[in-house]
Parts: sequence; C-alpha cells; structure tokens
Amino acid sequence: MKAVVTGGAGFIGSHLCDHLIAEGHQVVALDDLSTGCESNLKQLSGHPDFELVKGSVLDEVLVDDVVAAGDTVFHLAAAVGVHTIVDRPLESLRTNLHGTENVVEAAVRRRARYLVASTSEVYGKNDADGLSEDADRILGSPLKSRWSYAAAKGLDELVAYVHGGASGLPCVITRFFNIVGPRQTGRYGMVVPRFVDQALTGEPVTVYGEGTQRRCFGSVFDVVPAMVSLLETPAAHNRAVNLGGKEEVSISDLAQRVIDLTGSDSTVRHVPYEEAYGEGYEDMRRRMPDTSLAADLIDYEPRWRLDDIVG
Ligand code: NAD
Repeated sequence: MKAVVTGGAGFIGSHLCDHLIAEGHQVVALDDLSTGCESNLKQLSGHPDFELVKGSVLDEVLVDDVVAAGDTVFHLAAAVGVHTIVDRPLESLRTNLHGTENVVEAAVRRRARYLVASTSEVYGKNDADGLSEDADRILGSPLKSRWSYAAAKGLDELVAYVHGGASGLPCVITRFFNIVGPRQTGRYGMVVPRFVDQALTGEPVTVYGEGTQRRCFGSVFDVVPAMVSLLETPAAHNRAVNLGGKEEVSISDLAQRVIDLTGSDSTVRHVPYEEAYGEGYEDMRRRMPDTSLAADLIDYEPRWRLDDIVG
C-alpha cells in the first residue's frame, strides 16, 4: 500500500502511520501541525518508507500532488477540540468541509481508495426531548458555534458517499466515539488527557457540569487496525461505521478513576458549563456507540479497557 495520511502528525493519525509502517507499507503524512506535532512522528523520522509533508489540506495543488503518490488515502486532518470549534467556528467549518472536498476529489482524480474520519457528533443530541420547531435547533443540536463541527463532518460524509458512489472507488467513513490513548493532548479540551495532566500535576480535576454525563472511551490501538481492515473489506465500502469502546462511565467516575490510577492527591472540582464554554452551551448526556456493524464486517472487538488506557 502507498498510503497518504492527512492529519498524520495528530493523535490518531500518528498511530495509524506507525501501524502502516509496521505492516510494511509506504506512508506520506500531510499535516499543517496546527494541533498535531512533529514529535508524534519522531520514531519514524529517517525511515525510508515514511515522509512528512508540512502543509494544509486547504491547499488544493499540494493535496493533489501528495495524493498522486498514493493508492490509499486516510483523511483525518480536521479542526478538532471544543475550544477550537467554539472560538473559531468559521475557520473550523472551512477546514473540515473544504479540506475534505480537496482530499476526496484528489483521491477520486487519482483513483485512490479513501477513508474519511467522521464523528459520533453527526448523530446530534440523542437525549433531545422530541421534535419541535424550535428555531435554534438543527439536527437535534443547538445552532451554536460548536455545531460547525458536527455539520461539517455530516457534510464530509455526504461528499465521501457521493464521490464514492459516482466513482466506484472503495470508500469508508468511520464515526469515532471518544478515542483515547498515548499522544492525545488535553490542550484542546479532550477530557481524558486533561484529567490525567491535572492529576499528575496535583491540580484539581475539573469536571464540567454535574459530571453525570456518560461517555464510552475507545482505544486508539483498537481503532487503528480497524480502519485498515474496513478499507480492505468490500462489504464496508460506501458505508459509515461506528468505532469506539464498550465501557461506559460517568465523567465524575472517570475523574475519580484517573485520580486513583495516577495515585494523585488532586480533588475533583465542578465547573459550570458556562464558565468552561460560554453561555448556552449544552452537552450530550450520553454518548455510547453500537459497534455491532463493525463486529459483523471485520470482527471488531475492542480489547482495551479504560483502566489500561489511562494507566
Ligand atoms: P488531532 O488534532 O490530534 O489530529 C488532527 C490533525 O489534523 C492534527 O495533526 C492537525 O495538525 C491536523 N490538521 C488540522 N487542520 C489541518 C489542515 N488544514 N491541513 C492539514 N492538517 C491539518 O485529533 P485526532 O483526535 O487525532 O482526530 C483525528 C480525526 O478523527 C479528526 O478528523 C477528528 O475529527 C476525528 N475524530 C476524532 C475523535 C477522537 O475521539 N479523537 C472523535 C471523533 C472524530
């Protein structure tokens, strides 16, 4: 395989690069290093089958050039993290929508199969009270700046499907549910690395809201090989597939588990959502993947438990 990994210097992308190189493939990572960093790829530096190209997926000419060298494209580059999205919604929308158009169109021009990384957020809020004409809600989510991420990712899926169908090329969409593991940074609001950083430095572990919201964390080490298997499985082509973990936990329990596992003296501090994200912010009460489609398609079975991931 001659693989192109956009967002290859990021958390999931860098683990994917490691996996592909370990499996004997050639890899070119394309990343603008906005949230990713070169040190995530230091273990591959100088490897004859690996190259990092620094640049943006918004640069159409560069994208076409990079994709021309590949036969498989994993598109992971995106503006991520609640703070990035809430603070710069239009910039995020541009990266997440036009960047995907550039990458998918280049893949189609170059006849490369492709995978597009999407998110559980495309499902909107699964605890909405039912449908109403409430003008500030679209797809079950409040029409707030945060929605730019879910909206762009939903449209990314459409771009991927339509081009996949028209071109006949194998394409897969993966909907990630709270993936965690080494190299994930807490700087952009991701809860597990933020809690770990706070616990290790003895700061209060800050839980937004009451902490009763529930999440299910999946390991990057389960998800990365699944991405490759899905692209190699014809029954998965032109489908969106959930990938995540199995173990559900409340955010309060997660905070306590992180404190226990790190042997920290930190206490838990509750911070109102408004203080963390501004007025009117709404969080999802529960986000839990049904991964039975991935199980049917590729025998996906998450092996990593939350304690092992945090540990
Ligand atoms: P990440 O921030 O570590 O990775 C994203 C990478 O994209 C970074 O390296 C960043 O520098 C790069 N990037 C951003 N804008 C770019 C641009 N214009 N051009 C080139 N590179 C650019 O985040 P991640 O968690 O590894 O996410 C990878 C993908 O998975 C993203 O598409 C994200 O939306 C999706 N996803 C992740 C999760 C999760 O739980 N981690 C959940 C849902 C979806």
